[in-house]
Parts: sequence; C-alpha cells; structure tokens
Amino acid sequence: MEDLLRKLPPVHELQRESSLLSILDKHAVTKKLWTSWIQRAVDEVRKEIQSLSYNGPHELKMEIISRVQGIAETWASPRLQRVINGTGTVIHTNLGRARLSDQAVKQVSTAARHFTNLEFDLEKSTRGSRHTIIEDLIREVTGAEAAIVVNNNAAAVYFVLRTFTKNRKVIVSRGELVEIGGSFRVSSIMEESDAILTEIGTTNKTHYTDYLQAIDDETRMIMKVHTSNFFIKGFTESQSSKVLAPLAKENDLIYYEDLGSGSLYDYRASGIGTEPVVKEVVHDGADLVSFSGDKLLGGPQAGIIAGKKQWIDILKKHQLARVLRVDKMTLAALESTLKDYLKGEEALQTNPVWRDIKKTQEEIKTKVDKFLNSADSCHGIHFEGRPCISKVGGGTMPDVELASYGVAVYSENMTAGELERSLRRQRPAIIGRIMDETFYLDFRTIGDSEIEETISAFQQISDYMS
Ligand SMILES: *Cc1c(COP(=O)(O)O)cnc(C)c1O
Repeated sequence: MEDLLRKLPPVHELQRESSLLSILDKHAVTKKLWTSWIQRAVDEVRKEIQSLSYNGPHELKMEIISRVQGIAETWASPRLQRVINGTGTVIHTNLGRARLSDQAVKQVSTAARHFTNLEFDLEKSTRGSRHTIIEDLIREVTGAEAAIVVNNNAAAVYFVLRTFTKNRKVIVSRGELVEIGGSFRVSSIMEESDAILTEIGTTNKTHYTDYLQAIDDETRMIMKVHTSNFFIKGFTESQSSKVLAPLAKENDLIYYEDLGSGSLYDYRASGIGTEPVVKEVVHDGADLVSFSGDKLLGGPQAGIIAGKKQWIDILKKHQLARVLRVDKMTLAALESTLKDYLKGEEALQTNPVWRDIKKTQEEIKTKVDKFLNSADSCHGIHFEGRPCISKVGGGTMPDVELASYGVAVYSENMTAGELERSLRRQRPAIIGRIMDETFYLDFRTIGDSEIEETISAFQQISDYMS
C-alpha cells in the first residue's frame, strides 16, 4: 500500500504533463482552478488506489489524466441542461415548467443583449417605470383596470396579503387552504405576511352563510384560492366569485382571488377541464386576482396581479414592489407571450404550452409512427406504440386526462429501471415514466426535432449493450 502510494505522481510534476496542459488550454480557465482539478483527481485515485487494479506509475498517471478530463468536461457543460421531456406532462415543474415561443425567446435575447428603455420614457425623456411597460397588455387580456408583475405567483400572494391585510383578518375557506408542490402553503404565506387567517367551513363544504357569519370589524379581505392541484368529488360546495365579490363589496372588504394557473384561453370550449378564464373572474367583480406566468399562460416565471386601479396603485408605491420586481428579460418574454393571446389562435400555435395541451391523439400518433419507422435498428431494444394519458401538470387541471400516444420500451438485457437510468444519463437526458414495470415515453411533449435525438440515444444504449 505504502509502495503504491509512492508511485502516485506529485501535482507539480503533473502540471508539466502535456495532455493536462492542453486541458488548461482548451477550457481557458485559471491555473488555480485547473490545479484544483488535478489535485482532486489525485485525491480520488489515492482513495481508491486499492480497488484499482493498477500498479505501475504510468498507469496511475493515465488514470489521473483521464479523471481530470472528466472533471473538466463536467465543469464546462452547463449546469442547467436541456432535457427531452418524455413524460407527456406539459407543465412539468421539475423540468422547468413552460417553454417560451420562438418569438418570446427572440425578445428575451434582444433585451439581454442591448440597452433598453426599461425605466426610461422615450417620449418625455424622463425616468419611466418598468411597472407600466406591459400593463396595457395585461389590462387587455384580463379586462382589469390595472396590473403589476412580480417574481412569481407566490410572491404575488405574499405581496397582496402583506400590503392590505397585515394584522387584519382574511377569510379563507378550509377547502382552499392548499399546499402546492410542497413548498407553497397558503397558510404559511399568510403567516409570513402577518395576515390573520380566519378559516371557515369544512374541507368539503363552505356555505355562503359561513362567509357572512365570519365577517367582523377586523375583517379586511375575503380571499379565494384556486384549488389547482387537487379536486374534491361528491358532496361538495364552495362559493364562486359571482357571490363573494358582491358580498365583499357590501361589507367594504377587498375580494382577492389567487387563480394559481390563471388561464387566458378558454380551454373549456375545447372540452379540456373547467379552469375559469381570468377575464370572467375580473368581470365578476374581483378587486384583485393573481396568477403565474409560467403555468397555463406559457410564459416566463412571473406573478401577475391584476385588478382595481385603487389597489394596484398602492402596490406600485409599496417598498415590496422593489423587492419583488422582475427583470427586463421577464418583461420581454411576457410581452411577447401576452400578445399571442391578443392575436388569437393562429398566434397561439407558437406557444409550446398551448400547442402541447391542444395536440390531438392522432397528431401525437403520427410522431410515434415516425419514431417507430426509424427505431427498428436498435438491437436488443423493442418498441411498442400504445395509447396513453397525459397530464397538464404544474398543479393545473388535476382531473384532466389528455388522450395521448407513446411507446413502451422493452429490453431482454435491461429492466425498466435500468432503461430509465441509461436514458437519464444521455445528453440531452431523456426523461420518461415507468408504469407497471415498463419504461414509457409519451410523445405529447417530445418535439419533431427531438425524435432523431431520441432514436440516437436508444442506438447508443443498444451499441453499448452489444
Ligand atoms: C402554483 C400556485 C401558486 C404559486 O405560483 P408560483 O408562480 O409557482 O409561485 C400559488 N397559488 C396557487 C393556487 C397555485 O396553483
């Protein structure tokens, strides 16, 4: 063992090694960082020296060099990696939720690359406000008098509660005290905002009279939370904005609805879900509504607050507006995304979220057929086209099942778990689902241009096996 350790080349000697110098050259990093890679590789090999079957100094050196190469490649490749989504879930929170349209990406790129009029009024040559740049577009898509954009919808909820209901009572139905994705609980956000939660009703039923009886002198707001990620079936009752907005008004309270996803497009008309359209809730008389930018909307991460001008004006002047404000790239992406809703269905075809949700089973099957026609050369791996069900995701429309099409993947040499792991380790990684011990790819969320890449990933795995 001692002998073996003595055969490890010292770092200063390795630093003169031409293959290591060429790594330094290739990645153009500092000498300090490069040296730390070498040090790490030496340390690794030292630790594993007994389990490695090498004994000559040359072999050990080659092992170290190959490890430095690996460390350098990993370091150089982006941490935020592109993946192919074969889960069929359109708004996949773990995979980054919405993808932007090409036009939105172009606008983001311009905003990132150049100076912009973010806070400069080009007409008056005075200081402008980022809060008004796309306000007119939000007004148009929501029908609200005014609007402000913040970092995400969780921030929007916090902002509204903190501003209007600090140390004041907010009435919320017990059936709506939801937790979303484990990290967002309405009750926790409320606690952070110092709003005083007044829970009413039961998990399955909250009556109009429950609201009526809960109102007292300290009440400031009635809040309705969209139960985005679950739904209760059967013996239920909840109150709609149609009755709650007038009730709030009669009692001089603010009526605020956290819409969660906030659809600007009426998916119900295409038989998809029961998601209310933001415009309707605003029309019903909500003082304030908020919703995410990167769920059903199909835009960047953002929280949009829309509603009566008197309340939005207060938000705009609040210190928290500065804390929670969005950057120019978000505004650029949001502008482009919102315009597509105003242009109509043809423009919406370019929005990946909208397009993926609306895709028919036949369209998806065409992609699967294309895949199956070229994938038969993968030895040891077999594919079987099959209908399946995809979900909208992102805590949106939990009860909706979109008829889809995909492939079941079988291999004599690999279990479903092994297939899953091998595909996840490809670059780009391919993420699928395991159902009934079978690995499955749903083609709803796999783009035409990704079919080739998916086939070549399977080919690599098949080559590796044989
Ligand atoms: C998703 C969701 C949120 C949080 O929105 P983010 O944009 O993820 O911060 C808040 N409320 C409801 C009802 C939601 O569905």
